Amino acid sequence: KKRQRIDKVLGNLGYGSRSELKKMVKQGRITLNGAVVKDSGAQTDPECDTIEVDGETVVYRKFIYLMLHKPPGVISATEDLRDKTVIDLLPDEFKVFSPFPVGRLDKDTEGLLLLTNDGGLAHDLLSPRKHVPKTYLADCVGRIGDAEIAQFKTGVRLDDGYITLPAKLEILHYSEYADGRVKSRISLTISEGKFHQVKRMFESVGSKVTYLKRVSMGALQLDETLPMGSFRELTAAELELLT
Ligand code: URA
Repeated sequence: KKRQRIDKVLGNLGYGSRSELKKMVKQGRITLNGAVVKDSGAQTDPECDTIEVDGETVVYRKFIYLMLHKPPGVISATEDLRDKTVIDLLPDEFKVFSPFPVGRLDKDTEGLLLLTNDGGLAHDLLSPRKHVPKTYLADCVGRIGDAEIAQFKTGVRLDDGYITLPAKLEILHYSEYADGRVKSRISLTISEGKFHQVKRMFESVGSKVTYLKRVSMGALQLDETLPMGSFRELTAAELELLT
């Protein structure tokens, strides 16, 4: 598992396509532990070997940090027997890193989902003791107002008796559903992540969430220019926000 083709390793690190790398090998531009590579299919363990391209040492990356603009209808898991998962949307170039989702969004929830193979970072972000804030946009049934803002600020009792930590609710605007009921567009920031938490918080005040999107996790915000269903690597600055 550790040994891989050198063209694959370099391709994954952005050095070029398979055919470009083949050409670079032919031109003698790539060395492996000091010896010029003759075959682009040469095997390497990139964590131990020294690879150079045009005399520059290749910095092998172990970890990858990806932002997904999750569409509704896919499961935040690596495998599912029935449904499409976020991993089914992952471009091939990232598959070799085996990233997994950091936490979960419901199947019908969209928005920011982080994927990484950095178990330490994932653990820190998910640790209940760290209270990493997560902000959601939602539509919910009925006129949500000052009463709910106050209740969410204090904590509400979920169906299993759990009292939620203080959460920040903001009312963005009101509109109407097709059937005439009032629709409230809200923003909610919670600092914990109980199962279906946002939906259950609104149920506890007699409402119902009909649309849910996560827009931030810690200081990291969803890149709204990232098309739904697409991944991109976090920038260095974004990664810094999480660590
Ligand atoms: N809360 C929910 O109810 N669902 C999600 O997907 C995320 C938070």
